[in-house]
Amino acid sequence: MTAKHLSDAELAAGRELMARLDAFAAFTDEPGRLTRLFLSDAHKRAARAFIGWCAEAGLDARIDAAGNVVARYEGRQAGAPALMLGSHIDTVRDAGRYDGNYGALAALAVVEGLAGHGERLDHAVEIVAFGDEEGVRFRSTLTGSRALAGTYEQDALDQKDSGGVLMRDALKAFGGDPDAAGSIRANNVAAFVEAHIEQGPLLEAEGLPLGVVSAINGATRLEVGVDGAAGHAGATPMALRRDALTAAAEMALAIEARARREADLVATVGRLEVWPGATNVIPGHVQFSVDLRAPDDARRAAALADLKASIHSIAVARGVRATVAKTHEANAFVCDPRIVAGLTRAVVEVGVRPRILPSGAGHDTMVMGGHCPAGMLFVRCKGGVSHNPLESITPEDCAYGLAALSRFVRDFRVS
Ligand SMILES: [Zn+2]
Repeated sequence: MTAKHLSDAELAAGRELMARLDAFAAFTDEPGRLTRLFLSDAHKRAARAFIGWCAEAGLDARIDAAGNVVARYEGRQAGAPALMLGSHIDTVRDAGRYDGNYGALAALAVVEGLAGHGERLDHAVEIVAFGDEEGVRFRSTLTGSRALAGTYEQDALDQKDSGGVLMRDALKAFGGDPDAAGSIRANNVAAFVEAHIEQGPLLEAEGLPLGVVSAINGATRLEVGVDGAAGHAGATPMALRRDALTAAAEMALAIEARARREADLVATVGRLEVWPGATNVIPGHVQFSVDLRAPDDARRAAALADLKASIHSIAVARGVRATVAKTHEANAFVCDPRIVAGLTRAVVEVGVRPRILPSGAGHDTMVMGGHCPAGMLFVRCKGGVSHNPLESITPEDCAYGLAALSRFVRDFRVS
């Protein structure tokens, strides 16, 4: 697909955003690779740069109590309800430069586009660069969006990083206010929208630069134990075996087959351990994990029931015993239908065939969605690769994302 539907100005704005993403990647805690952990020195330098760019656009940006960078571009009337845009600027270790950063800097670029023409809308636009999405440094995650959504967990402040530094102290040094972080909640926000790289291969496979997110998948994790009978690999005839590994293998295949039956449902056996784990011993015990995700909780529950039934029937048929324990469960977040419709219109306006897809990864949007209507725009990334320095987007796709987000913002109406 060519960028024939984008204007020269939109393509130029995309190139500028790419250049800024490159410059922003210089804010790292580790020379030679991008690592920007929550409240680190690199995070502080990145936040200062973001605030500086906001100031150049005439915006008064600041670090809020929870360590987010926030700024507001007023509408025609001061105090109008705001459309909030943004994403996170913390990264994993040895990260790519687009995960999170794309949505935070695209939000700023949208406002720069408005401010550059002195264009005011009926609503205000607030931009946010969340600081704590990846949850790498402390045993906490999404604390920035939780603060704005009014669901801040105070005990996050008592978490220590690997060097023994309390989040409370790091937040204070960063310019936040641990005593107020739990009470800042975003006021008068009509909706929240996050642009983000897809982190999956679907848009690339379909030749599309953009996608609109329908829902963020809910997830269930299981720990399955299979007890058979260990025995001599030479002396036990096949008919008399109760092999825990072949039973587990059949269970893994049944789990895969069930997930394949349904679009948007994914199931993974990612870890499997075998006891005693010797060449000449029939496996007596196997332990494996199951990760099941779907954009719809009822469909995930139905699939879960089927998986459990398959595991037990395979166990009975093979004379082994299976135990299934649930280790994690999170409900899906369904994006606001009006935002999905608005983003879809914007995607069509920039000449892209609309594709609505679920997000397999978690995002700040699912937290903000507990506070106000929320949704997401996905930008194609090469090979679906993320959390990796090989993360890559094209300048054209960058421009498509910014152009669609800008149109969405201009067309947005507070209901
Ligand atoms: Zn992200």
